[in-house]
Amino acid sequence: MVGAVPASHTEWRARAAALRIESGLFIDGHSVAAADGATLAVINPATGATVAEMACGGASDVDRAVASARAAWDDGRWRHMAPRDRMAVFRRFADLVEANAAELALLETIAMGKPINDALGVDIPEAVVTIRYFGECIDKIAGSVTNTAHNALHIVAREPIGVIGAISAWNYPLLMATWKIAPALAAGNCVVLKPAERAPLSCVRLAQLFIDAGGPPGVFNVVNGRGPEAGRALALHPDVAKISFTGSTATGKQLMIHAGESNLKRVSLETGGKSPQIVLPDADLDVAVDAAVRGIFDNSGQVCNAGSRLLVHEAIHDEFIARFTDRAAALYAPGDPLDPATSLGPLVARAHQQAVLGWIDKGIASGACLEFGGTVDPTRPQGAYVLPTLFSGVRPDMAVGREEIFGPVAALFKFRNEAEAIALANDSPYGLAASIWTADLKRAHRMVKALEAGVIWVNCFGDGDMTQPFGGYKQSGNTRDKSLECIAGYMQSKSAWFALD
Ligand code: NAD
Repeated sequence: MVGAVPASHTEWRARAAALRIESGLFIDGHSVAAADGATLAVINPATGATVAEMACGGASDVDRAVASARAAWDDGRWRHMAPRDRMAVFRRFADLVEANAAELALLETIAMGKPINDALGVDIPEAVVTIRYFGECIDKIAGSVTNTAHNALHIVAREPIGVIGAISAWNYPLLMATWKIAPALAAGNCVVLKPAERAPLSCVRLAQLFIDAGGPPGVFNVVNGRGPEAGRALALHPDVAKISFTGSTATGKQLMIHAGESNLKRVSLETGGKSPQIVLPDADLDVAVDAAVRGIFDNSGQVCNAGSRLLVHEAIHDEFIARFTDRAAALYAPGDPLDPATSLGPLVARAHQQAVLGWIDKGIASGACLEFGGTVDPTRPQGAYVLPTLFSGVRPDMAVGREEIFGPVAALFKFRNEAEAIALANDSPYGLAASIWTADLKRAHRMVKALEAGVIWVNCFGDGDMTQPFGGYKQSGNTRDKSLECIAGYMQSKSAWFALD
């Protein structure tokens, strides 16, 4: 049941002012301070105000958390629990997240600037669905008995792996963490989560809700801290069997090195993207333009699969730009993210705002045409806002068309034919997602085969449900979140061969 939800800007502000934030690390079922007492401020990017001084864990805190998870693994308090009992914990867990939706949404909004309606309408419900989906999987996971010669019996068991180190990003703080911890726990593992230090508030609360749902202490721990310290310690830890990561491609590469330097732990990576939206002349332009605008400006463009490259056929190029410009102006106006009417919040931090403005400067310097935007919001100097921005005339050699900007910046390329569209789309180190807009389904099938991307949408963008494996080709990662394919990644097979004669 969803708890009481404020309706107006005033009510949300009052709720934010009254919020009690849990600021500790979460180890062995308890909120604790960092061993050295260190803290790290969480700054509201809409106002610049400090919303919490969160405990900031280091290597010794990671040691404590991994020891707790390891003890829980060793005594089997979770993995040996009957599947239906674990499912009951998951059901209560999902119900509690749902019942606390308003609080969790608020924690996202004040930490990273996401509009409250997005947090409440997307992030939290999706996290609930994720927990429910993987909870439902628990007693459906089965091994097999293979077809062997008569004098042997061969059983392939599917077992959890051990202690999973989950490292997550700040753009959907609770949801990205849930995409890791829900399948990891459902498979029977124990978890140490290192949330993104810019927005750890909801993850600490999530760990408490797991305990409230009847989850045993030590099974799900959270160590907030800086990436190069707490994250690195987790990635190097000899008792961590797998790192499951969402974040930048650069950090993902570092984690693979850490695995090699330590115990050859498994490393699953969900990393960056520069996803193309290909619009052909026979597309339903109203729908395509609307999706293109939302696909790059939602969450201020801080979305791994953001449709940041718009590939538009020359026959509709000018009309597309005109419609895109109108639709962007109609849909995305900056505002206070605590106002339910706001569609465009600030970027996550001042430093990120400056980085995005730097990419915009590079786009202008390289000769791309700035159609609109490109600046901060002059009416909100206290916040880390960047206005929705469109470049046209982009070529593949321009940084604005190649690099993952992770902000509200669209780069529009013109193409002449299908082959050129495919070549442009695939000319990227990334391969997370892509979309195709056309009324010709034969053409769409052909293009799906040719595109190098893990997720492809045809005549839609961003659609899907929990059955959809989510992850990338090339340097966008090496794994899939969501789906049955995902839960298999948190398990290993054990072959037991019985001689019968
Ligand atoms: P980031 O790589 O800077 O940080 C991600 C996480 O890694 C954080 O928790 C951070 O503290 C930690 N980290 C940083 N350096 C580390 C190190 N040396 N060792 C261990 N951990 C370290 O990324 P970000 O800026 O937080 O997130 C944005 C990125 O995440 C974008 O590239 C985006 O595309 C990607 N992302 C991908 C997906 C996906 O599903 N593919 C989803 C969301 C975000």
